[in-house]
Amino acid sequence: MQELPLTTAVQTEHWILDLPRLHVIDAELAPLGDDAESIQLVDAALADFLTPKEPAQHVPTESEIRRFLRDYIDGILTPDIEKEIERSVSISYSKGQATITLKTDKATASAISRHIDKAARKKNITKPEALEALIFNRTQTKVVINTYASGDDASRVYIPSAGWCVLTEQLNSYSMTRELCPQETSSYVPTEQIRTWVHGRDATCRWPGCSMPARYCQLDHRVEYADGGPTGVDNLVTLCQHHHNVKTDGRAQYIMDPITGDVVWLFSDGTFEIDRAQGPLAPRTVNWKQTWQQYLDMRKRPRSNTRALHKEAIKP
Ligand SMILES: [Zn+2]
Repeated sequence: MQELPLTTAVQTEHWILDLPRLHVIDAELAPLGDDAESIQLVDAALADFLTPKEPAQHVPTESEIRRFLRDYIDGILTPDIEKEIERSVSISYSKGQATITLKTDKATASAISRHIDKAARKKNITKPEALEALIFNRTQTKVVINTYASGDDASRVYIPSAGWCVLTEQLNSYSMTRELCPQETSSYVPTEQIRTWVHGRDATCRWPGCSMPARYCQLDHRVEYADGGPTGVDNLVTLCQHHHNVKTDGRAQYIMDPITGDVVWLFSDGTFEIDRAQGPLAPRTVNWKQTWQQYLDMRKRPRSNTRALHKEAIKP
């Protein structure tokens, strides 16, 4: 914590980091080694992330802190990290069983994982059986993965559950970029564009601390459709089956700020808690990412250019 003075200052004021959370920070920062400048940037970003912005704001869980740091370090601080990956396959045999390990980039791993999920569902088999079926060509699957890009570089994308990734040439050649226009629909069932947008804003179930990925969740009409609630992004929130039931049973209800994407949960005992949207389309994430990107771009400007500007400035 000595290397993180800003985060320490937040901790001294709010005491939100317990030992397991501190372990997460320590482990995620380890790859940066003694790169003082990067650690300083992470410190500023982490301190901002941990500073409560509203009363009764949900304290980030260990997995939320881990995801934040990975997104920040891989996505913003070291965008070229994936170009250095050495892909490998290793097989070890021991005590009558074997373990296969594949080392690859995050986007490819994410695509493989979707194919395994799809084959397992299609054939009603376990995931190891599904992987075998795919490799031995006993089944074929087709998957669509929604990725989110910001800026001009469409090969750098955010894949929910994997974070910011660089698409390999092969994946990029299959990809298609489109502008999301999630128009409200009169139907109860959200359009594919609405679903994709809400998943991009929420990333996970919006119950404070629940980390169920959005693609395994349902879209809940905050104001029921039968009561006139529209099927549009401002009235739809990602909830896992369990927390959807908690809402349906009336044990908790929520309201959402359409500007920030914040969800305020109101519990039956009169208390409340605020959950902040953390997907790549969450308004706070978008603004924050742009601000940091501008700052990093500014730092990367060639020094000679700075000197030239300086000369201009001191011309009589
Ligand atoms: Zn949940």
